[in-house]
Amino acid sequence: MKRIGIYAGSFDPFTMGHLDIVERASSLFDEVIVALLTNQAKRPVFTLEERLKMLENAIGETSCTNVRTGTFDGLLVDYAAQVGARFLIRGLRSAVDFEYERQIDTMNRRLSGIETVYLLADAKYGFLSSSIVKEVGIMGGSIDGLVPEINRNIIVERLRRK
Ligand code: ADP
Repeated sequence: MKRIGIYAGSFDPFTMGHLDIVERASSLFDEVIVALLTNQAKRPVFTLEERLKMLENAIGETSCTNVRTGTFDGLLVDYAAQVGARFLIRGLRSAVDFEYERQIDTMNRRLSGIETVYLLADAKYGFLSSSIVKEVGIMGGSIDGLVPEINRNIIVERLRRK
């Protein structure tokens, strides 16, 4: 049976930390689906179309041939069942992430028995979050090296208008 893993998030915007997880997960699974949460509850700064386009730009530049994008709303475990994924992939930056993930992991296993696999954030990206990119970008600070270069202008332009 094919090992399919889902790496889900709001990716608002997709960062170099996210990309690092995708590339590392790509070598662990037969297929990785990078799934964008379309729910508006988190009030994303970037539109769904912008976020999807940026995901596709970034993934298109990698040499990973087993990674594709998807979108979902509602329960992640339901989406996983729909696409035949038996694993969820998450990145861990800190103990704060761990505590949050423990709750979700336990709930997801209760709901469907799905297994979550964690990849420790690379030391270079342990501090990096979509929120910090937005905070710095809105103030006009440099986000070079924090987001895939191919998306830098889209992000800078969008944040400048905020
Ligand atoms: P969410 O809305 O689920 O918090 P995010 O888009 O912020 O989604 O993040 C998606 C996943 O990527 C989460 O598992 C998060 O911990 C992980 N992640 C975020 N930033 C980094 C980073 N710099 N390095 C490694 N993993 C990260």
